Amino acid sequence: MSVTLNLFRLQQLDTRLDQVNARLNAIQTALENNAELQAAQKAQAAAEADLLKAEKALKHAEDESARQRIKLEQADSSLYSGHIHNPKELQDLQNDVAALKRQLATLEDAQLEAMLAIEEARSRFEAACTALTSTQGRVISQNSSLQSEHDDLLREAERLASQRNAVLPIIAPASLARYTSLRQEKRGNAVTTISDNTCDTCGALLTPGHAQAVRFSTEIVTCPSCGRILFSN
Ligand SMILES: [Zn+2]
Repeated sequence: MSVTLNLFRLQQLDTRLDQVNARLNAIQTALENNAELQAAQKAQAAAEADLLKAEKALKHAEDESARQRIKLEQADSSLYSGHIHNPKELQDLQNDVAALKRQLATLEDAQLEAMLAIEEARSRFEAACTALTSTQGRVISQNSSLQSEHDDLLREAERLASQRNAVLPIIAPASLARYTSLRQEKRGNAVTTISDNTCDTCGALLTPGHAQAVRFSTEIVTCPSCGRILFSN
């Protein structure tokens, strides 16, 4: 019986160790790459790029308007300089001034649109910054609770490992080998308890003699149906 008691105890430790290690891995992954934070960082970078593009477009529109205004001033001053007397030349110049004014109006419209586009891009950028800041805050507090859970689990893993090391030497190598291969085969559940002469895992009913053997034999007794090592507590 003590053989199966030790194997049962070993399995409890191994099961908990597996859970602890799985959780440690999940926490490590969560700490290393937080999808929510990465998405917020990406959104902020995209909004910033849009804002810079809008600012560049406004600068371009302002330069174009300024150039156009200079051309218009030059044409205007020629027109009113009194140096041009030829009616055909004067008419041409008047036409030029009118055309330049129309073009300037179009350019100023474009400039206004560029300013509006900047306002929109700026408010989108500010919203993305606010979202990033709040995501960072959330992730930091989430991470600190994950970090403390991580530390607790590490300590538990060490404790389990030392308990495991204490159990291992009192189990015969052949029994340990049997447990190890069964545990792989049965996905972690190599040793199972019995209740009312029934295997608690597969539900197979044991003969009274078989159940007696589980209780009193010094050898390993397995379930006739699922093959697991049976343990009576
Ligand atoms: Zn069974």
